[in-house]
Amino acid sequence: MIPSPPLYICPSPLITQTHSHQSLEMEVVEDTVIVGAGIAGLAASLGLYRMGLRSVVLESSDSLRATGFAFTAWTNAWKALDALGIGDSLRQQHVQLHGLVVASVATGLATSQVSFIAKGKLGDHEVRCVRRNMLLEALERELPRGTIRFGSKVVSIEETWNLKLVHLADGSILKAKVLVGCDGVNSVVAKWLGLPKPPFPRRSAARGIAEYPGGHGFKSEFLQYVGDGFRSGFLPCDEKTIYWFFTFISSPQAKDAEENPAKMKHYLLSLLQKAPKEVTGIIEKTELDTILSSPLRFRFPWDVLWGRICKNNVCVAGDAFHPMTPDLGQGACSALEDGVTLARCIGEALLGKSTAGGDESGRISRGLEKYAKERRCRGFDLIPTGYVLGFIQQSNGVVMSFLRDKCLAGFMAGMYLNKADFDCGTLFRD
Ligand SMILES: Cc1cc2nc3c(=O)[nH]c(=O)nc-3n(C[C@H](O)[C@H](O)[C@H](O)COP(=O)(O)OP(=O)(O)OC[C@H]3O[C@@H](n4cnc5c(N)ncnc54)[C@H](O)[C@@H]3O)c2cc1C
Repeated sequence: MIPSPPLYICPSPLITQTHSHQSLEMEVVEDTVIVGAGIAGLAASLGLYRMGLRSVVLESSDSLRATGFAFTAWTNAWKALDALGIGDSLRQQHVQLHGLVVASVATGLATSQVSFIAKGKLGDHEVRCVRRNMLLEALERELPRGTIRFGSKVVSIEETWNLKLVHLADGSILKAKVLVGCDGVNSVVAKWLGLPKPPFPRRSAARGIAEYPGGHGFKSEFLQYVGDGFRSGFLPCDEKTIYWFFTFISSPQAKDAEENPAKMKHYLLSLLQKAPKEVTGIIEKTELDTILSSPLRFRFPWDVLWGRICKNNVCVAGDAFHPMTPDLGQGACSALEDGVTLARCIGEALLGKSTAGGDESGRISRGLEKYAKERRCRGFDLIPTGYVLGFIQQSNGVVMSFLRDKCLAGFMAGMYLNKADFDCGTLFRD
């Protein structure tokens, strides 16, 4: 007797039979399709998986894209990473930063200092500079094999009844009950929802990473140098790696350098005038192929508050939802918060746990509205705060520099911890 195959139950994909072109065809409907395997997309997918739900993540690249090398992960990001169950493994790979020192490049002197060994409303603060590849790999490792479909570029979206038809560049089509756009600033999903293209604030950024195989010897602190028209930051990720960034007002000289890493290196060194040699040494030590420059983008806060960020069981998260200037260092942190909140809202709807009853499509729709309500205010708070902070920190002129360095420095530095004092909650409501 031939043994029967093991029986297993998987909530998705749903397989239905339809008549198409006069032939019987098996049609696969995914519960949740996520566009983009960046921080927001993978966080949402892992959150759903932790709730017992599978999703499909479509990524246009052929492998994980860790654009930007590293980022400051503030207290709120650690709460989200803990909710996803990957906080502790990342803690082991990254040093905890003890404070922020802001210095003026004109004088070389510190203008303000903030200790990160501080308590917020929600408990102890925690700040580390996380390598993006390590975060993305940690998220991917926890997901079931085959969740991420690389080389899958979404080109358009259609609707049929309650389902979304997701068209890929290779001509294939996926059907989904829920579609989540985590596809960054040039989001196809945001465009489908009718959100306007994120504008350019006429500022650019350069980022890089310097490796010290024998150890860098820098203190575990976030060091910033600010000057006329620019702000720079230097942060150790671990004992052997320093991540750095610059944001600056776009000028013909900066524009010219953006195309060429060697010119960019030269330009950045010219900005650092009186910074100590160890600091300029970080830029000098950075290999040209680990220098990246790009213009900044953001969304107007009123589009985050009143724009259509979810419609007919389609929504956006991360930079597709609320791209912001990097002055508060909250874009990736809030993308992690989005991932947890979204997974909780979709998970409750698909598992039938949401308080309001009704059919599945109605529950999903209400779940996404709940997500939008929770997240709009957060984006509306972060975008203008970061923009104004960046405007003041990078401003030039004698009066603005005086105000920045003498009157506002401490207030602005404290704003980092203030905005990080946020908890997106766990995946399972009490
Ligand atoms: C200079 C600079 C410094 C920053 N510093 C910090 C910091 O210190 N702290 C912080 O929290 N944030 C920081 N940020 C912000 C942070 O980088 C972003 O907010 C974050 O990376 C957004 O993640 P995401 O997953 O939403 O989007 P992305 O990282 O852009 O991921 C989008 C993914 O979608 C894929 N994709 C795009 N289109 C399609 C498509 N059509 N089909 C399929 N896949 C697609 C892409 O390939 C990509 O993998 C900084 C940003 C800049 C520019």
